[in-house]
Amino acid sequence: MNRKEEQMAQAHPHMTESAAPPGPIHVVVDLNRCQAYAQCCFFAPGVFKLHGEEALWYDPAPDQAQREHVLRAAAACPVQAILIEQDSHQDEMEGRRPS
Ligand code: SF4
Repeated sequence: MNRKEEQMAQAHPHMTESAAPPGPIHVVVDLNRCQAYAQCCFFAPGVFKLHGEEALWYDPAPDQAQREHVLRAAAACPVQAILIEQDSHQDEMEGRRPS
């Protein structure tokens, strides 16, 4: 950790965890719950698309560049149909330290 990061950690201890590079995300949409409101298509048009008036297409493994858009889309869904799973591989690796 360099000096700037140390200062940041002392000033904002709650932010140090989120400063770690985020892992890949996986998207699942509960299509039984989805009402085709298209809010997700507005917030993340590269990940969610409506075909016709009801058929939602989505990318289940979006690129890291889409991460913020996907999080906003999930938060905006009026029926909470979008589930985002974080890849926990990094956490697993951090848990295994050499003895
Ligand atoms: S915002 Fe929610 S309800 Fe609307 S299309 Fe997207 S997943 Fe479906």
